[in-house]
Amino acid sequence: MEYTNITEEDRELIDAATTVIQKNFLYGKHHVGSAVRSKSGKIYVGVHLESQNIDVCAEHVAMGMVVSNGEREFDSIVAITMWDVPKPTIILPCNTCRELINFYGPETWVILEINGGPKKCKAKDLITLA
Ligand SMILES: [Zn+2]
Repeated sequence: MEYTNITEEDRELIDAATTVIQKNFLYGKHHVGSAVRSKSGKIYVGVHLESQNIDVCAEHVAMGMVVSNGEREFDSIVAITMWDVPKPTIILPCNTCRELINFYGPETWVILEINGGPKKCKAKDLITLA
């Protein structure tokens, strides 16, 4: 698959996702932060929620924030984990997230870590990844 280099705006999105999980990390409850840039350029953030039997992904929460604020289109999204890693790290959205992001916006940029550095690809290209 072809990946695209990230921009300054993408770095800003990574920083926003990192900040939200650094501020709100709670062992056993909140390990992942996500940030979504809407088409208007505004950044929305969310952290994942967890109980014994349920996980609500940070991407779901961040996307819900976009829609709850009256916006409908996404430009880009990233998720950062602080679970079991030495420093905040970009993660690949899970299958459920990939499906949801693609359903809402197949042209949404998804920021990933590829060979140790951030890159991005379209949600529609990510949906086919196993
Ligand atoms: Zn997920």
